[in-house]
Amino acid sequence: MEVIEAVGELRSRIKEFKRQGKTIGFVPTMGFLHEGHISLMKKAREETDIVIVSIFVNPTQFGPNEDFESYPKDMVRDQRLTESVGVDFLFTPTVTEMYPDGYSTFVEVAGDLTRQLCGRTRPGHFRGVTTIVAKLFHMTTPDYAYFGKKDAQQVVVIEKMVRDLNMDIVIVPCSIVREEDGLAMSSRNSYLTEADRKKAQVLSQSLFETKAKIASGERDITTIKQFIVSRIKQIEGALIDYVEIVHSKTLENMNQIKGNILIALAVKFGKTRLIDNIDMVV
Ligand code: AMP
Repeated sequence: MEVIEAVGELRSRIKEFKRQGKTIGFVPTMGFLHEGHISLMKKAREETDIVIVSIFVNPTQFGPNEDFESYPKDMVRDQRLTESVGVDFLFTPTVTEMYPDGYSTFVEVAGDLTRQLCGRTRPGHFRGVTTIVAKLFHMTTPDYAYFGKKDAQQVVVIEKMVRDLNMDIVIVPCSIVREEDGLAMSSRNSYLTEADRKKAQVLSQSLFETKAKIASGERDITTIKQFIVSRIKQIEGALIDYVEIVHSKTLENMNQIKGNILIALAVKFGKTRLIDNIDMVV
């Protein structure tokens, strides 16, 4: 595995492989890797010739009072992990490489897609995400790019950007990887105190219980939302950001439980904001 910091060097290495007709798989991350990230890399390794992983904590997707400064990092461990799954290139650009002085170009998917759900409490977040992902796509020129369904809204937003800008890239959504007790893996789980870590089980538990209710015939959106809200409110210190049921492909609000549905939630434990979701076809 080669570790590359400079865009120019990355480009010239990729060009060689493109000339040979090799397919490129790309996995963008912010590092502090866990099994969720690793599952994306393994899929890319299976499906493409050359696997590129980026680690970049992207300042433009963090709000002013968010955790950009404190975002966890462990580059030594991340390098060991990426190498162990057979990644070819680990791209670790600096902030000045990505956003040099005077940088002023942004990519934005406008409208409800980025304003609702996480966009409501994180204005500007998706503009930062689409800007960095568009830049990384230009640098890595992937045929396939792998994203986790843990960030379900992000997948839909990236797919829209790729369609709108005619990018010749296949977006591959990958299943959520969970801890044994159901908690969706996240670099941010490391912020949780032991007590909050236990309480955070309520996210996946309420989603799985909801799935069972729908499977046994419950179809009333209000009843389902109320069930999840009350389930979370039973947990002391859990502060709901949102609980939403939307169409999983368009993120449009639903008035009945039918077709492709996404049940998505965001909950804060102390300063730590966690998200989780399940999708179903009913
Ligand atoms: P991040 O480093 O948090 O920006 O995540 C990088 C990629 O890994 C994104 O596409 C995430 O959706 C994906 N990812 C993060 N956590 C998980 C998980 N638990 N399961 C599957 N994919 C994940």
